Amino acid sequence: MSAKKRLKSELSFFGGFIITGRHLTRPRVTRRYPDEKKPKQPRQHGRHVLNRYEDGMEKCIGCELCAGVCPADCIYVRGLDNPPDHPVSPGERYGYVYEINYLRCIHCDLCVEACPTEAITESKLFEFSFTNRNDAIYTKSELVVDDDGMPKKLPWEDWREGDDLLTSGWMRATAPSGAADFEGEVQWSGELGYGVRAPEAGQSDNRDDEATGTKALRDILEPHLLDGDIPAAHKGMRGRVWRAQTSAARHKVKLEAMRQRRKDAKAAKRGEQ
Ligand code: SF4
Ligand code: SF4
Repeated sequence: MSAKKRLKSELSFFGGFIITGRHLTRPRVTRRYPDEKKPKQPRQHGRHVLNRYEDGMEKCIGCELCAGVCPADCIYVRGLDNPPDHPVSPGERYGYVYEINYLRCIHCDLCVEACPTEAITESKLFEFSFTNRNDAIYTKSELVVDDDGMPKKLPWEDWREGDDLLTSGWMRATAPSGAADFEGEVQWSGELGYGVRAPEAGQSDNRDDEATGTKALRDILEPHLLDGDIPAAHKGMRGRVWRAQTSAARHKVKLEAMRQRRKDAKAAKRGEQ
């Protein structure tokens, strides 16, 4: 190996330090989890809640459909006839016992889909843990929303702002048998604390992204999903021309920067001589 090559090989050792040094001044792309968390997506499946109607009555009618459909066999429900003087739900029966075993749940949301009264939905909370198996089984008193219609915040759960809002985004998707006339029409009942929720975005011209909280997701997916929202200048032949122009402009800037660097290097060399 020539002396020049050996020197080059030895100096390459410092290459790693140079790369590390460069990254010290660049903006950080990671977060200090769990102190800083990314906003969760509207359809995030987290810890369940049992909802109540706007008048405070429970939505669960103890039909056990959620337990029947659950692929992980983690729901246990027992229904009981409503006491005539103090009915718990508007139906004949109500969920007397309701348990979910979170050591089994895979958060597939099939229970939410099966429920005929939208009684069970999922919040966005997934940051909860237990120190024994018993605590992993949530009981009805823990799952039913409080008097404001919000999920109960249990001591071992790490709730952050927004985790308790907009539970189960999919439920607010409207597609009644593909009938276009009914797109965006609300077909579900109101909830304690929320009233009647707005339909999910992306299904009609009347969507309200702010109200449904789907704006963040739309910002990411819009160019891929919603053809109608892509500016005409970015579509078809005009789009190709636009992309070519943008790319050429980017290359021009790079080329000019490169030329300038060369000029500076030459000028510096001349100065040295
Ligand atoms: S989310 Fe899926 S696994 Fe979990 S309780 Fe519901 S149906 Fe069962
Ligand atoms: S949560 Fe829904 S599906 Fe499950 S028992 Fe109650 S009403 Fe039936």
